[in-house]
Amino acid sequence: MNNNKVISKETAEELKALLSHPKKILLTTHKSPDGDAIGSSLALYHYLKAQGHDVYVSVPDDMPDFLKWLPGSDKFIIFYRRKKKLEEILNNADIVFALDYNHFKRTGDEMAKLLSQSESLKIMIDHHQQPDDFMQYRVWDVMASSTAQLVWEFIVALSGKQAVDKTIGECLYTGIMTDTGSFRFATCTSHTFRITADLLDIGVRGDLIHQYVYDQNSIDRIHLMGYALEKIVLMPEQKTAYIALSKEELKKFKYKPGDTEGLVNKVLSVVGVEVAALITEKENQVRLSLRSSGNFSVNQLSRTYFSGGGHENAAGGSLEMSFDDAIKYFKDSIKKAIQ
Ligand code: 5GP
Ligand code: MN
Repeated sequence: MNNNKVISKETAEELKALLSHPKKILLTTHKSPDGDAIGSSLALYHYLKAQGHDVYVSVPDDMPDFLKWLPGSDKFIIFYRRKKKLEEILNNADIVFALDYNHFKRTGDEMAKLLSQSESLKIMIDHHQQPDDFMQYRVWDVMASSTAQLVWEFIVALSGKQAVDKTIGECLYTGIMTDTGSFRFATCTSHTFRITADLLDIGVRGDLIHQYVYDQNSIDRIHLMGYALEKIVLMPEQKTAYIALSKEELKKFKYKPGDTEGLVNKVLSVVGVEVAALITEKENQVRLSLRSSGNFSVNQLSRTYFSGGGHENAAGGSLEMSFDDAIKYFKDSIKKAIQ
């Protein structure tokens, strides 16, 4: 199915007019950025640059090493390292894009405050449920495989397919590949495959991107995976399983951002498990990464119990309590939610 409805003709015309003169533009994405956050931001960065705009790309905190090969990844202004710089850009920006998130709080409290005070025009490109209403324009579709796919729609609606070059294509491919679990989730439709096929046609090397993202693991990361998988706890009555990793455990394996990526999906792959969680102790909070199969909405679960959200089958949240209390609270919440 061709998804032309994401951007109506009228909206495309308005956006074209808006972007017909050089603008100062800031791109933002969410904390703990994944392949879609980074890929969609960089794809849009390269496109807007090529259109003659003054573009800045930012991220609240560090990205995983396995995304650092992406063209332009050195251009990111990392908020927690360069707060003043980002504040200055934000204060002078004509347009701010929100990519792969739909509530400012997904950028962290401090950056969220600056964003909500900013008077720049806001454009959201996102595929998560229940968006806030901070933006003048939204390119939003919860059925879309990834924000990268929506950035493709955006570029094509404004400038046609010829505007998608190989550099932009590599960024888009990375976003689509990582958010679809390598082209296997239900959100990966024939339309997604057609876009991906177009990217291959312009010279994007899917095989190499797969290697860069998935086959460059440190030995510490592989050891962490092995250790964590040994620790899976089953809650058979709730068809739930989880792994909990403390700060000390993560430190032992020299944890770096992205090292636990994919672990929660392994938990979900256990026969009979329909809800999976990875609980990790961070500096000032405990993070939860949630997955489900079938109709159980981890978005709803996370909204109700973990101040988070996401998609029906993939969501995240956080708890501000001790690690041990968080594990207990998680188990109690699951028991309440699944009776
Ligand atoms: P992950 O478990 O891979 O970190 O996140 C799964 C999905 O949930 C992603 O789409 C992510 O954007 C979303 N998500 C993760 N953490 C949070 C959170 O704290 N709040 C909200 N609203 N969404 C989250
Ligand atoms: Mn995404």
